[in-house]
Amino acid sequence: MNVRPLWAGIDGIVFDAVGTLIQPEPSVASAYTAAASRQGIELDRDEVRARFRVHFQSDGVDAGQGTFSTDEATERRRWRQIVAGVLPELPDPERAFEELWDHFSDPSSWRCFPDVAPALQVLRQEGVSLCVGSNFDGRLRGVVRGLPELAPWVDSLVISSEVGYRKPHPEFFRAACDHLGLPPGRVMCVGDDVENDVRGAMRAGLSGLLLDRETCRPSDLPHVANLAALVQSRLNGH
Ligand SMILES: [Mg+2]
Repeated sequence: MNVRPLWAGIDGIVFDAVGTLIQPEPSVASAYTAAASRQGIELDRDEVRARFRVHFQSDGVDAGQGTFSTDEATERRRWRQIVAGVLPELPDPERAFEELWDHFSDPSSWRCFPDVAPALQVLRQEGVSLCVGSNFDGRLRGVVRGLPELAPWVDSLVISSEVGYRKPHPEFFRAACDHLGLPPGRVMCVGDDVENDVRGAMRAGLSGLLLDRETCRPSDLPHVANLAALVQSRLNGH
């Protein structure tokens, strides 16, 4: 797909983090299954994966604080609920929550996609202002600091629990644009989530580009299969 029109007037990019720049390794399902196993509960990994998908997607709203409001305490509470929902069989759910919280705080539990470092380097050389905008919580700072490919970007993080709003709330995108020092019309959000990264960004006045690494989702939205394709579209546009 030709994404060149996307670059018209674009001077900055907000990259989503999880699924776009980094991914858990081992998988989320493996980490949860291992946490259950440590308490003597053996679960099927596919079942755990399916449960996680349901619980992760069902709690974007904190009714007490309003739609998409968040902070560090809210995120911690949210993850405690997700762990309890995914692993209801455990005798000690709090122990599993603490173990998994720490696990996903550790940079060694994550890996950077191989196309990330080359893409960020070329885009920076091209003069594009870059930041990472994520619904992850404050743990992302430690994760980014510990991944060599991303460590230089640790001061370029816009994190929902620090902003006070999760994607796709427009306040989140306003904060990301403020971080870049650019108006929304000159910023593109690139990520793997249709609603959080693309449609939400568009509603806030940014451009949106779906990173579809699986290339299996039919989409009428602008999309690329990897970050090399994103870079190539920039280079072709000059
Ligand atoms: Mg993502």
